[in-house]
Amino acid sequence: MIIQIETLRKFQLVAGMLLTIVSGCAKGQQPLDAATYQNIDEYTVRVLLDDEIRTASIRIDSPYKLICVDTTEVFPAQKTDGEIDIKLQTDGIKAGEMLLKTKRLIIEPQSPLPLKINNQAYRGSIEFIINDDSNSMMIINNVSTETYLMGVIAAEMPSYWEAEALKAQAVAARTYCLYIKSKFGKNRDWDVKATQANQVYKGLAAETMRTTNAVNATTGMVLCCENESGGCEAFGTYYSSVCGGHTENAQDVFGEGCAPLAGVDCPYCRQITRPDIFYWPMVKFDKKYVTQQLTERYSSLKELGKIEKIEVAKENSYDSTVLRDGLPPDTNNFKRIVSVKLIGSAKQPSKATGRELIEPNLPPPPPKTAILRAEDMRLAIDPTGTKIQSTSCMILTTGNEFMFVSGKGFGHGVGLCQYGARQMARDGKTAEQILNFYYPGSRIKILY
Ligand SMILES: [Zn+2]
Repeated sequence: MIIQIETLRKFQLVAGMLLTIVSGCAKGQQPLDAATYQNIDEYTVRVLLDDEIRTASIRIDSPYKLICVDTTEVFPAQKTDGEIDIKLQTDGIKAGEMLLKTKRLIIEPQSPLPLKINNQAYRGSIEFIINDDSNSMMIINNVSTETYLMGVIAAEMPSYWEAEALKAQAVAARTYCLYIKSKFGKNRDWDVKATQANQVYKGLAAETMRTTNAVNATTGMVLCCENESGGCEAFGTYYSSVCGGHTENAQDVFGEGCAPLAGVDCPYCRQITRPDIFYWPMVKFDKKYVTQQLTERYSSLKELGKIEKIEVAKENSYDSTVLRDGLPPDTNNFKRIVSVKLIGSAKQPSKATGRELIEPNLPPPPPKTAILRAEDMRLAIDPTGTKIQSTSCMILTTGNEFMFVSGKGFGHGVGLCQYGARQMARDGKTAEQILNFYYPGSRIKILY
């Protein structure tokens, strides 16, 4: 790393005015400031981009700072040719030619210029944290909530959709992110993942003028629901692509949820969604593959042996009787599987009573079984969620295969139905009306 002499002198002067610090952070260089790094506030989102890297290529076309979080040392680095190779070392993190003896390193460009990680542009700063096993690092993008949303909305909803649908999406995504951050963020070094596990985030590449307008038009707005002490609290504003006819009770999908997430009859997505998306085609998986996928995610299922049969343990059924906007109600009942019973090849242990010696034709002991949430089963078998698109389907066992047939909808079905929201916007509904419809009983609160 080249630091120009003039700049170095300037920093040495500043450093001379401070107490001399014995640095454990950088080999052969003194830290230029011992400031405590306090840029992480309640509205900064720490987005986990990857949890297992050893190297990364960073490109910054502006001056930047290297901050060793655990020793609170800050090293201004001058603009170089722009490329910095980050490498995990046994005794720290190497940034270019500089070895920083730290477990947590932040690279902060001169705001608000973006930087590139492996050729993908992000705003905010980048943090590397060495994992506990010392074999890999996490890479985290620290950005303001509003900046984060600009990189989320167009990745979660097509930017050409109606403005009111995009605004409803922005409020739902903001609320969801702050809810996940407050619930889980304090116990870990990041708040949300940049994938479907939370919300898809693509940084600068995803930003469009229309989606950024939707974020700006709703700045600081979140949805809240009344809590027991009379306050209004942000909640998990889940959303999915196509509910299929009725949104689902969050309790049945995630095991938690408040009143606005009980589920509503949705006549809208069916009006706008292409039939090949609304109804998904039959998919089949062989039993060996299904067993392998399920036991990989849930090791306790190994005791079942090979999964031989999948039965519906609980199913929600909704009658669509509401006549809306002059349209006849959907005469087909809408159903969604809530939980399944997995039946294995392994048998229950039977107590030897001696009877089997005199009655050799006694029925064999029953097979081992387990109950699993249908949504958990779906994503264990098909982690992308693009084959088994929802749990609104039938599961058939034939020979050596499981078939998922008569499928409807796309996604878990909880909260806002995105295609439904688009249809509502086309019908002239505002973002607030869309949000009130899909999260009944909630209200908008302006946080900042
Ligand atoms: Zn819907």
